[in-house]
Amino acid sequence: MALKPDSYVVLNDGHKMPVIGFGTYAPETYTKEQAEKGTKLAIEVGYRHIDGAFMYGNEVQVGQAINSKIADGTVKREDIFYTGKLWNNSHTPERVRPALEHSLKDLQLDYMDLFIIHTPMDFQPGDDLFPTDENGKPIFHNTDIRDTWKAMEACKDAGLVQSIGVSNFNRHQLEVILNMPELKYKPVCNQVECHIYLNQSKLLKFCKSNDIVLVGYSVLGSSRAEKWIDQNSPKVLEDPVLNTISKKVNRSPAQVAMRYLLQRGIVVLAKSFSPERIKQNFQVFDFELSGEDMKTLDGVNKNLRYLNFDTWQEHPKYPLHDEY
Ligand code: NDP
Repeated sequence: MALKPDSYVVLNDGHKMPVIGFGTYAPETYTKEQAEKGTKLAIEVGYRHIDGAFMYGNEVQVGQAINSKIADGTVKREDIFYTGKLWNNSHTPERVRPALEHSLKDLQLDYMDLFIIHTPMDFQPGDDLFPTDENGKPIFHNTDIRDTWKAMEACKDAGLVQSIGVSNFNRHQLEVILNMPELKYKPVCNQVECHIYLNQSKLLKFCKSNDIVLVGYSVLGSSRAEKWIDQNSPKVLEDPVLNTISKKVNRSPAQVAMRYLLQRGIVVLAKSFSPERIKQNFQVFDFELSGEDMKTLDGVNKNLRYLNFDTWQEHPKYPLHDEY
């Protein structure tokens, strides 16, 4: 079926997720007001899926943007698909619902469309987002992820969230949840880094075979935030093969990079706080990449990861030691 601005995927619990999501994470050089302005414009130009997180520190502003677009009649609450995330300091079961409620209060929303476990790695429970010891080393914790998942299921049963899922999980970690004997709800999605340099073909195949949607982040090559990303890594949007195809089809490299993932059945997140690029990134429905172009783009994969959570490699649930 041809992709359209209002295309969505049906999740394994029956809810619908629009195929393009507006990313709201930005490095500290951006203001929170830019997140608010960006989100408002995104809704005006047609984005209906907004990807946020408690850890991004701007759910108040993103919520204000959503509520103002509801108040002015641009959208209704049910038109919007908002994703929030459970941060690593709140994996213990008793902290899960309060964390969700905290986000909902900041957002001024009654429910989230999707709540996902931000990463499988948990930290010392508490208010500190990045707890460290006296030597500056992160203080890890090791909650059984199945207990966290049961608490996520209870949030869905309580009506605080429509769907629940995970992020940054590898295949084995997905299997731990899928194999829970008492499993009530499967994760609807796994949100992971995905772009032409990390095309995730194996994880995608596994997710598809289990009716789990792969949601891709950093599809344009990431925000390159200094705190997280190697500043010397090659840039997706400067890739020569991508640029050759983009000239041929008369679209920008960003549009082709997004379209490549959409055509593989991946839900795509893209962040921009620039009005011109917010609009541009939603104009990916009026062209199609040929089978040959898709194959050529498959060929630029390098298994290059921008976000490798380097300082958390010793966590017992560090997901990136496995191939996928
Ligand atoms: P993206 O790959 O979306 O890239 C964002 C960067 O690309 C920004 O610097 C932006 O700058 C620039 N950009 C945007 N559009 C264009 C364009 N058309 N041409 C050229 N440059 C462009 O990065 P993110 O890593 O931010 O990923 C997107 C979203 O995914 C996040 O905002 C967040 O919601 C989510 N995410 C989730 C993670 C997780 O662990 N689950 C991890 C990382 C991200 P400008 O704003 O100036 O346009």
